[in-house]
Amino acid sequence: MTYRSIQRLFVLALLAALFAIGSSVAAEQKLSVDELLNSLSATLKTAPEKSIGLLTRLQELRSTFSEKQIERFTLLKASSLGLRGKQLERIDLVKSYVEQVSNPDSRLKFLYELSDAYTRLGDYENALKAINESILLLPKAISVNAKVATLSAAISLSISLHTYDDALKIAERLYSLEAKNGDFFAKCYGLADRIRINFLMGNSADARSMLPEAIAACDGDNRKMMTLVVKTRAVVDLIDTGHYGEGINEGAPLLLEFSKTNDASSILTQLEEAIARGYLKKGDLVRAEQYGLRAYQRSTLENAFEMREKSSETMAKIKRALGQLNSAIEYYDINLELKKKVLDDQLLKNLAYQRVKFDMQDKANELALSEQKNKTLTIEKALQQGKNQNLLLLMTLGLILLSILGAWLVRTLRQKNIFRTSAQIDGLTQVSNRAHFMECSTQAFKDSDGHVSVVLFDMDHFKKINDTFGHAAGDWVLKTVCDTVKTHLRKTDIFGRLGGEEFAICLSGINQEEVLALAERCRVAISEIDSNPCGFSFLITASFGLATRGIRGHSNFEETLAGADKALYFSKNEGRNRVSVFQ
Ligand code: GH3
Ligand code: MG
Ligand code: MG
Repeated sequence: MTYRSIQRLFVLALLAALFAIGSSVAAEQKLSVDELLNSLSATLKTAPEKSIGLLTRLQELRSTFSEKQIERFTLLKASSLGLRGKQLERIDLVKSYVEQVSNPDSRLKFLYELSDAYTRLGDYENALKAINESILLLPKAISVNAKVATLSAAISLSISLHTYDDALKIAERLYSLEAKNGDFFAKCYGLADRIRINFLMGNSADARSMLPEAIAACDGDNRKMMTLVVKTRAVVDLIDTGHYGEGINEGAPLLLEFSKTNDASSILTQLEEAIARGYLKKGDLVRAEQYGLRAYQRSTLENAFEMREKSSETMAKIKRALGQLNSAIEYYDINLELKKKVLDDQLLKNLAYQRVKFDMQDKANELALSEQKNKTLTIEKALQQGKNQNLLLLMTLGLILLSILGAWLVRTLRQKNIFRTSAQIDGLTQVSNRAHFMECSTQAFKDSDGHVSVVLFDMDHFKKINDTFGHAAGDWVLKTVCDTVKTHLRKTDIFGRLGGEEFAICLSGINQEEVLALAERCRVAISEIDSNPCGFSFLITASFGLATRGIRGHSNFEETLAGADKALYFSKNEGRNRVSVFQ
């Protein structure tokens, strides 16, 4: 083995040793944190004022805490603050931490600290809120201890608010925890509370009937203190109900029991005060004063003003009985002051209770309201659907109406067209009437720069046809003549009936020769019409006259028409059934 390798080995060994020391130190530290926490917990129960030193030591180690240790430390610190009367600091501490706590059991412990701090501050509203939250958490909690603590706190607060019915219900709940868990712990507390409430409600008989079970449960769970508490309540009730001798007799052994413990202040004060009253009634003023003064002094130390109010009154009565009137007046004054305070406090409590109740009622109302809203929404939805259906119906109706309207419009337009057409067309012959022909021809003359001609024709001896074969035959002739002429015309040519058996054609775009040829074709066609279809055989002829624009200075329609008329007149004069051109 070389020197180098020995050196390496040595370094490795050193490192291993350091690691071992380090981890053992860490383990020791972890162990000591838990030990310190246990010690703090114990100190808080026996001598809370000594907890500060432990708290400071733990605070220094805080950076090494596990999460569980931080939680425990925070709870113990809160409890310590509470025991030292620093409720505001306690509240701040709990509030700064409670939001991170999701585990129901842990949360219950924090809420207990909060409700207790608020109660001690006289902020019953917030205390009630914390308690309510705790009660809601109960179904999720597992730890019996946490449940018992929560329910006990709720009961104390309810009692303090004089809402005994509520308190009794919670106490019964606490009592029934026992059945599930098989230990006497909850049963002892539950029964103790039920007894207390029943006494407060004046149901002495009910309360007394529970005593043996309560004592058995509390003794069985090794909760001698609770046994003592229960027994004390019974003694106080004896004295309250006028059984002075009995009360004093039963109270004496309890006082002895209390003297063995140092953890019974408030309940002991109650016992002493009751015994003082008992002795006062019995006329044993010395003992009365002895117990009365103890109770009064203890209540002053505890700063429990309700108990102070009670014991100061007892002291005033004792002093008066003793003939010490000045002292009696002093106690009466104190008592009066405290009575006022108790009343004020009770008023605050009642208001807080009402507010929280209302708050809860509000929440219940809110829930109901939101449910109602949901219902309303559903209704609205349904309504909306109904509305949509209505809309659909309306639209359908609208559509139907529109179709009707449309149909009506089309009909109307068609009708209008018919009217318009009928206003422009000659009914018998279905050619343009005079007005329409004039209008269209005038326009045609204006529109065209080229050749525009007017051809006029008049039936020859038409009167005779009418007279010989009847008016119907005459009509037939007129209609047939028009149909015949039409077959020779272009679409652009304007053909009209000027009146009676006189017709006119306005032709654009063709010269006079072409117009003449067309007129000739028409004349021939008319003369070739077979009249037999009308029931008679006769010859049908017409005389024609035509004029073209530009001829002899004729420039417009009227002049040209007049020219054509002249030419027609000429044709008639020349023997009819011919075409004459206006020259
Ligand atoms: P001419 O050859 O000189 O034109 O002799 P004409 O008999 O045709 O002329 P006249 O003006 O003397 O007679 C025209 C007749 O046409 C008179 C009238 O009763 C008839 N008439 C006018 N309009 C109609 C019609 O719509 N239907 C029938 N059936 N006859 C009509
Ligand atoms: Mg005629
Ligand atoms: Mg005529």
